[in-house]
Amino acid sequence: MSHTVTLIPGDGIGPEVVAAAVRVLSATGIDFEWETETAGMAAIGEHGTPLPTRVLDSVRRNKLALKGPTETPVAGGHRSVNVDLRKKLDLYASLRPVHSLPGIKSRYADVDLVVVRENTEDLYSGLEHVVVPGVVESIKIITERASTRIALFAFDYARAQGRKRITAVHKANIMKLSDGLFLDCCRVVGKQYPEIQYDEIIVDNACMQLVLDPTRFDVLLLENLYGDIVSDLCAGFIGGLGLAPGANIGEDAAIFEAVHGSAPDIAGKNLANPMALILSSALMLDHLGERAAAERVRAAVHEVLRAGKKLPRDLGGTAGTTEIAEAIASRM
Ligand code: NAD
Repeated sequence: MSHTVTLIPGDGIGPEVVAAAVRVLSATGIDFEWETETAGMAAIGEHGTPLPTRVLDSVRRNKLALKGPTETPVAGGHRSVNVDLRKKLDLYASLRPVHSLPGIKSRYADVDLVVVRENTEDLYSGLEHVVVPGVVESIKIITERASTRIALFAFDYARAQGRKRITAVHKANIMKLSDGLFLDCCRVVGKQYPEIQYDEIIVDNACMQLVLDPTRFDVLLLENLYGDIVSDLCAGFIGGLGLAPGANIGEDAAIFEAVHGSAPDIAGKNLANPMALILSSALMLDHLGERAAAERVRAAVHEVLRAGKKLPRDLGGTAGTTEIAEAIASRM
């Protein structure tokens, strides 16, 4: 069976890591039809907008996309393509598994946790305005609907994956109403899953406990802003951004992309580590029900890491992006 997937190369190192992931996916023997669409800075010149309607149409049609990072200028300029994609396609769940990998020098071993982040609201609602010069208001939106939906996603995921415990991360001691509502929803949903242990932790303490011993955690359930920060923190446990995969999932579509950004400092130099996007494509294979192929991709990445001969610069090696993709593909 053939799968049609929207392919968004993105900006910076995006096209390089996307090409590497496509190379590895082609080695699975599964038939993919790629619908390549331009988004990000690359689309502004061509279409006058970083997120042309045709990109959204393509993802809606295929229900699936593999995406490279897109650049967002800090302050001013256009809205983030990612925030827009997540909102317009209602990709409400961000899923970021964080597993220790073989051959990686890290202070942490045996990390095996999953970050589930609400993707559509919180301080990322984009509701900001100047009250009077020198005073700016940025509005945090938390709703019962979105909180319940992400809690259900996390508990369903935990049940399907045989995970034992979910920890909701919050700051309800200060944001009593908003984070209080989030926790209320998590507690109500948690009662429907008696086999999964549920607990809560304040976000600042969570960061300290994670840094002390990330193996104490199983599934973390967070609102949007805390989830954004904590998932990057967790990427550090397994060797950095070059190895951290991710997915943004909704009822009608899912987009698979690495946690890292467009890395303009190394773009176009064949220096990017493609493993994070290759591991994200393994998540896409899981999502498609192609479990055996997903495991083969992960096993091939692990073998390359274990062998330690074709490593990218961020892992202390000298291999280029294309060379690493070939090394992984050849182990498939
Ligand atoms: P970044 O992730 O692009 O880079 C941070 C550091 O990590 C840089 O030193 C970079 O060289 C390195 N790095 C990142 N990915 C790497 C890889 N695969 N291999 C080797 N090294 C890698 O973060 P940033 O510098 O904060 O952001 C740059 C741009 O990316 C910004 O415009 C930001 O908005 C955008 N961004 C996009 C996404 C996305 O599209 N999903 C996510 C995060 C940031």
